[in-house]
Amino acid sequence: MNKMKIGVTGGAGYIGSHVVLSLLEQGHQVIVIDDLSSGSMKNVFSDESSYTFIQEDFSSEKGLKTLFDFLPDVVFHFAAQKAAGVSMQHPEHFSKHNIRSTLKLIEALSQSECGNFIFSSSAAVYGKPEYLPLDEEHPLRPLNYYGFTKQCIEENLKWFSRLGKMRFASLRYFNAAGYNINNQIQGIEKDANNLLPVIMETAIGKRPILDIFGTDYDTKDGTCLRDYIHTDDLAKAHLLSMEYILKEGKDLFVNLGGAKGASVLEVLQLAEEVIGKKIPHRFVGRREGDPPALFASSEKAYKILGWKAEHSSLKEVIESTWKVYFASL
Ligand code: UDP
Repeated sequence: MNKMKIGVTGGAGYIGSHVVLSLLEQGHQVIVIDDLSSGSMKNVFSDESSYTFIQEDFSSEKGLKTLFDFLPDVVFHFAAQKAAGVSMQHPEHFSKHNIRSTLKLIEALSQSECGNFIFSSSAAVYGKPEYLPLDEEHPLRPLNYYGFTKQCIEENLKWFSRLGKMRFASLRYFNAAGYNINNQIQGIEKDANNLLPVIMETAIGKRPILDIFGTDYDTKDGTCLRDYIHTDDLAKAHLLSMEYILKEGKDLFVNLGGAKGASVLEVLQLAEEVIGKKIPHRFVGRREGDPPALFASSEKAYKILGWKAEHSSLKEVIESTWKVYFASL
């Protein structure tokens, strides 16, 4: 594929940095706009010939101007709040960052020369599954406000596309996990709320105990099932999706998951095996807005993009994460 200019919001964050790494490996020229509110300087690369890093809120006047002055062919949008549980207590953070700021970006993009947008959506748009695995045709009835913010942007993308302002791919991630298998990403997350980082922080003693939210779900062991998908696999899907919208000139909604579910207890058990020690934990009540089970049908991703997960066994996901957390000690 031709070398292109790519603008990336949140490119110093967890998923963003993995995608930037893949974009650089393919020889594209990248500008990252990230205010480092949750991203890490450790995820800022030093390759100055094809990589520019700007520390700025992407939705500020300066952030948007810098991004579009770069004349990107494609914009990847990662900068967002992602803790589903927190969105039920502080919807105002999520309306501000995930809706208002993203709309500013979409508005600016629609008025620029750039007509291509890759959006980080989420499996949280589906809500409680009516059937499993979830395919892209499943109704969208988010159970948490975070999922609603993603659905709201998807609806706007459809309109902007219908009105000829852009083409887009909306990638519905299941549970992003794991770290680059070649050890090239070392930044750990600030204020982690997701299961694996919380397990890791407990393992390295950064927090005293892991809370397991809910033991009475209708699942094999009573804890929630999720579909953990390796960030290297996600990164690959981003590049394929970009190629698809550019070559086919069509929009895309696609699930990115590994097509299998693991329970919270299974993740904990395997993490203890990989790490080689017991992780202190206790059972607490359900977290508001948690669907009991989410796992993806990745048939569409395979059919349309030729994509399938290659590094997403739970073992690979946990081992690659532990390496990074261990190194952070
Ligand atoms: N979870 C948990 N303790 C934690 C964090 C998460 O028991 O400290 C559970 C959570 O209730 C859910 C699963 O782990 O069932 C995955 O949650 P996460 O926040 O990682 O991702 P989500 O599925 O909400 O996007």
